Amino acid sequence: MASFLKPEAFEPDPRAMRLLPFRFERISDDVVIISNFVGELMFATDNEMSRLVSLDLKPGDGLFERAREKLLVSVGSERAPLELLALRLRSRLAFLRNPTPLHIFVVTLRCEHSCPYCQVSRQSSDRNQFDMSDETAMRAIDVAMSTPGDSLKIEFQGGEPLLNFDLIQRVVDVASKEAVSLGKSVQFVIASNLAMLDDDILDFCKQRSVLISTSLDGPADLHNRNRPRPGGNSHELAVRNIQRAQGVLGRDRVGALMTTTEASLDRAEEIIDEYLALGLEGIFLRPLSPYGFAMKTRQFSKYDGEAWFRFYVRGLKYILEINKSGRRFPEFYASLLLRRMLTDRADGYVDLRSPMGAGLGTLVYNYDGDVFASDEGRMLAEMGDRTFKLGNLASADYAKLALSEKLIDLASRSLTQSAPQCSSCAFEPHCGADPVYHHATQGDPVGIKRFSEFCGRQKRIIGFLANLLEKSPDDAAILRGWAS
Ligand code: SF4
Repeated sequence: MASFLKPEAFEPDPRAMRLLPFRFERISDDVVIISNFVGELMFATDNEMSRLVSLDLKPGDGLFERAREKLLVSVGSERAPLELLALRLRSRLAFLRNPTPLHIFVVTLRCEHSCPYCQVSRQSSDRNQFDMSDETAMRAIDVAMSTPGDSLKIEFQGGEPLLNFDLIQRVVDVASKEAVSLGKSVQFVIASNLAMLDDDILDFCKQRSVLISTSLDGPADLHNRNRPRPGGNSHELAVRNIQRAQGVLGRDRVGALMTTTEASLDRAEEIIDEYLALGLEGIFLRPLSPYGFAMKTRQFSKYDGEAWFRFYVRGLKYILEINKSGRRFPEFYASLLLRRMLTDRADGYVDLRSPMGAGLGTLVYNYDGDVFASDEGRMLAEMGDRTFKLGNLASADYAKLALSEKLIDLASRSLTQSAPQCSSCAFEPHCGADPVYHHATQGDPVGIKRFSEFCGRQKRIIGFLANLLEKSPDDAAILRGWAS
């Protein structure tokens, strides 16, 4: 009679166990977050961490199973865990298959607002020399259409782009026709303060499926203080025109962004209520960036990363309560990070990529034909620093821009997978390179991350979200919903 081997015979030999690549971050005296090769996170005590690194694990002890599930160890000659990690990494980097999907047309630098935190150094609205010409716009379309990917987005920015709406119409018409003939899909977005919105513009946006992205900083007094314009009615116009646009285009075709100023810091709930009242589909709690008038007027230095994070946490907790009451209302930055933390989908969000999104994910065509690697790069140029200028449309084509020595050099230094500090950071798979920010704040595109508010913000937010996912089941259920 055949006899079966004892259960122990099927146990993996601990001597044949191997550690797979992982990184960790200490979050308290006794707890670390361990992150596997693709950023899946596991909380562990100090004791569990030492047992893991010394492979003091046994089937049935709980830690062995958790380490296996998180792909932190392999046993014997098995290749499956490594192959699975490789497959998941390939999925996460799939955005590289669609090079340069975002093309920003700065159709004018003119604006009738005079926001002290303006990051693009707008010009007063009567100066026509700051408008993009038809010829420049056509060259920009040629470059955009010669990118290898099948789908692209053209975003119109300014200044206030509606001050040059004739050119927007022409670009939409010409680019749409070219896209059809090349078998590509193209989506259009106008980033506008909406003060100049009228029925003709709305009709055009409806017919051509153009999306609207606008700015809304909160209640009237806060918004108008942040965003002055003649008449002091920026908020009234923004609210009225958001509602008009929602009515004509549909709620899901109109988005708004807020910028946190010093005056916003203790008003998180009121700002969020403003978005809820307008039926907007979520909110992006955004800090100020160190460019343009935000630097000249010293707005950027009026609060630090810790003050902003307190504002963010207060806002996120309030948003979670709103979701618990039954209304789905995500915070968009958290949603983006959660998708990375909980899935392997490639989002390709250009501000949070490795290699960097600047130049590889975005090209910016300035009103005068200069081409920049990112919107922040052209903002720096308006301050006199042309580090991120890649060329000019008068002589550049896509290949020259994409293969320029400057872009290749920046891209090779931008890899968080190999950059100092980032390469050993547990949160690297969910983060990205921001060479323009680090150049602007530290004079070096890589930067010393210990002194980087960008890095501090990333670590705080990802750590905070990981903690909620691990320890707060009610919040975790909502956060998981945002990731899906
Ligand atoms: S920037 Fe900071 S949080 Fe992001 S990967 Fe680098 S070290 Fe980690």
